[in-house]
Amino acid sequence: MKKDIVYADNAATTQMSEKAVEAMQNYLRREYANASQPYAFAREPKKALRNARETIAECIGAKSPDEIIFTSCGTESDNWVIENALLQHRNIHTSQIEHHAILNSCAFAESLGAKVSYIPVDKDGVVDLKELSNNLSNGDFVSVMFANNEIGTIEPIADIAQLSHEHGCIFHTDAVQAVGHIPINVQELGVDMLSASGHKFNGPKGIGFLYIRKGIHMSPLIHGGAQESGLRAGTENVAAIVAMATALKENISHLDENIQHIRRLESLLLSLLEESGIKYHRNGAANHTPGNISLSFPNADGEAILHRLDFLGICVSTGSACDSKETQISHVLKAIGLDESLAKGTIRITLGKNNTEDDVMQIVSALKRVLL
Ligand code: PLP
Repeated sequence: MKKDIVYADNAATTQMSEKAVEAMQNYLRREYANASQPYAFAREPKKALRNARETIAECIGAKSPDEIIFTSCGTESDNWVIENALLQHRNIHTSQIEHHAILNSCAFAESLGAKVSYIPVDKDGVVDLKELSNNLSNGDFVSVMFANNEIGTIEPIADIAQLSHEHGCIFHTDAVQAVGHIPINVQELGVDMLSASGHKFNGPKGIGFLYIRKGIHMSPLIHGGAQESGLRAGTENVAAIVAMATALKENISHLDENIQHIRRLESLLLSLLEESGIKYHRNGAANHTPGNISLSFPNADGEAILHRLDFLGICVSTGSACDSKETQISHVLKAIGLDESLAKGTIRITLGKNNTEDDVMQIVSALKRVLL
């Protein structure tokens, strides 16, 4: 952790793990061959790509490593999925609280003639399954996020997958906030496609993947060479891919202890906040990603709180980081029907595995200075 700051914005990005940094170095310094070349010097990067694909497939319970396609980030995976849905399905169903990587792709698809329905959520951010079911027709495409980035709510993914399949639809989930943080098994859940991003689980920025279940037809995203089964051309970023796989494996190997640690910190923060006398409202469902604490303070200004906390060395977010230039109320807080006076005073604290009890105490004492 950088000295003198308390980093509590782990939903925006995470600190790279030391193991991942180390794993990366070898492919930057020594094993720099283009993995597609046939000579002996390319053997090691080629093997590293294969191993990384296998590791990631195991970590998410995929049937085969071939179902993992490397992309440059979560946004790219999401864009690809929606553009493919535009080409193949035309009718798309998503939720009102998706990340803009999905929502803006859907708006683009609409501008080209797709029909998109935006399914509402309840006050905790859980997707209305009845409404979804009423909207589905055979051959449609469904994309609902695994866990929301602003309020942490985990969606009933297995139920949505089942519903989609019962109606003859394909189901994709944007799992950027979930992979590496909660147990995920794509086969058990019945997911057809899943987006993930390396930097959200202690891997590097600029690398992600898309899980595509065998049998699902995808149009290529980038046309060129034969990389990534001909679906996403371009010389592979072996160093970043290896580091992403290393980081994911590390998180999955310590998943239970990480979850317990983060949940303990979360409880500590909330009990200290309760003791402090600060009035607040907590957003999100009981079933949420560990450490995602969305707090709304009545008649306060979330952005002003963020800047005052920043001055005290504490990094949090107002809505999602990608929204930080916008001052209006986030689409997620609107969709859960949060009162405007509360929505305006909302901050998002996201604790991660590297946070400590001391961090939590500093956050609450800073909140007391700012709000009391
Ligand atoms: N989807 C969700 C739910 C996210 O939270 C984010 C990033 O915050 C993204 C997609 C975009 O991921 P990336 O930063 O890798 O493009």
